[in-house]
Amino acid sequence: MNLRIGHGYDIHRLVEGRPLILGGVTIDHSLGLDGHSDADVLVHTVMDALLGALALGDIGHYFPPDDPRWRGANSLVLLQQVAAMVRERGWRVVNVDTVLVAERPRLRPHVAAMAVNMATRLGISPDRVGVKATTNEKLGPEGREEGISCSAVALLVHDPDRRHGP
Ligand code: MG
Repeated sequence: MNLRIGHGYDIHRLVEGRPLILGGVTIDHSLGLDGHSDADVLVHTVMDALLGALALGDIGHYFPPDDPRWRGANSLVLLQQVAAMVRERGWRVVNVDTVLVAERPRLRPHVAAMAVNMATRLGISPDRVGVKATTNEKLGPEGREEGISCSAVALLVHDPDRRHGP
C-alpha cells in the first residue's frame, strides 16, 4: 500500500485583543483566535491530517501548548517541520483539502493566499491545497461567533527517492 490518508480537526475561541491569522494570512477583524501559538486553526488541522496519515500522533505531542518555545509561534513554521517529518519518512504530500467554518468575517477573499502560504511550506504547488470557507448558518459555536473551526484531509504517497528534497 503506497497511499495514506489523514484527517485533522481543530477549533479555537474568538476573543478580543488577538490578531486573526488563518493560513498565515492576518485578516482584519475585531476578534482573533485564542491560543498558545498564533492559533492558526487552519494550519493546525493540516498538520494533524499529515501526522494522522502516518499515525505519528498529533501536534500537541510535538508542539505542546505548555512549552514556552511555541508561545506565539508562527504555525506555518511548525507546518514546515511536519512536512520535513513526512518527507524524512519517505512520503510525499499528494494533496490537502480543508474546510474553514466561520460566521464572520468573510474568508473567501483570502483563501487563495492561504493556499499559497501552506503549499510553499509543504513544497507542493498551490493547486494541491484546497481551502474552502463556509458559515455555520448561525448554528453552534461557530454560528454564534464564539470560535472558528476547521477540518482537513491529506493524501500521502510513498516516494522514498524524494526523501531529501521537496
Ligand atoms: Mg489548535
